[in-house]
Amino acid sequence: MHSDENSLIGAIEAGGTKFICALARPDGTIVARARIDTRTPEECFPEVAAFFHDSAATHGPIAAFGVASFGPIDIDPASPAYGTFTTTPKPGWQGARFHDVLDRFGVPFVVDTDVNGAAIGEWQAGAGQGARTLAYTTIGTGVGTGVLRDGRSLMGFSHYEMGHIHPSHDHAADPFPGWCPYHGDCLEGLVAGPAIIKRWGTSLDHLADDPAKIELIGGYIADLAADLVLMHMPDRLIFGGGVIKAPGLIEAVRRRTEKRLNGYVRNDRLDPGLERYIVTPGLGDDAGITGAIALGRQALAQHQTPD
Ligand code: ZN
Repeated sequence: MHSDENSLIGAIEAGGTKFICALARPDGTIVARARIDTRTPEECFPEVAAFFHDSAATHGPIAAFGVASFGPIDIDPASPAYGTFTTTPKPGWQGARFHDVLDRFGVPFVVDTDVNGAAIGEWQAGAGQGARTLAYTTIGTGVGTGVLRDGRSLMGFSHYEMGHIHPSHDHAADPFPGWCPYHGDCLEGLVAGPAIIKRWGTSLDHLADDPAKIELIGGYIADLAADLVLMHMPDRLIFGGGVIKAPGLIEAVRRRTEKRLNGYVRNDRLDPGLERYIVTPGLGDDAGITGAIALGRQALAQHQTPD
């Protein structure tokens, strides 16, 4: 018999401005929670460790951790650099490792990206419930997609970087050259929040009365949506993040995705109009920490050998 029911899970949603730390029961109920400002690892890791030490003293021992983190970060459990920040421009974080804060607890942990974490949260308790293959895309400061199969994130030698695909870009209709430092007019370079502000001087939700602009951005995002369908055949696509909240945008994405696929993929999942197929998140701000708890549960399961 294992102690599944009583095991507590430590969860960390590590973002560029804040760490949300939570102690939770395996059913997801959070028993303690803290917000810690992201500074340097030397400054914030000790606070993270102190929170888990203190909350475990009150609520009981921690059996596993799940981490959903900003990146780029090595998420390959077989890699010697697993859990290490790689090329992040964030001062002090390159080379920092979650092992530095979690090894002291002597329990298993899983590290994944913030996007994959949010995808898992949505799969667990939000708009992705019931989907065996799920693609979750966030369009905000950056653009990223997590693809799940049965609640686990897919990866290659690293996490996916689908925000950097090149959508078709008509330079006459949209002369903006893009702002991605690596690719210029990749998807992130054309549709991320900063790209829209650089191009039009304001965020997309302030441009809702300009249908041509909404349609243009929706068309770029639809290129990714159609590519996701063609490459992964997901049961559902979720689009979240600040940019997606612009009125009319998700409708434009649906319309343009349908046009782009042009009837080629026929399946009941792709309903006419794609209103059930392309959806917005169900969890709001709690997707990340919900996903981190689910990752902790995965860490626990991986280290429990069947009797
Ligand atoms: Zn790029």
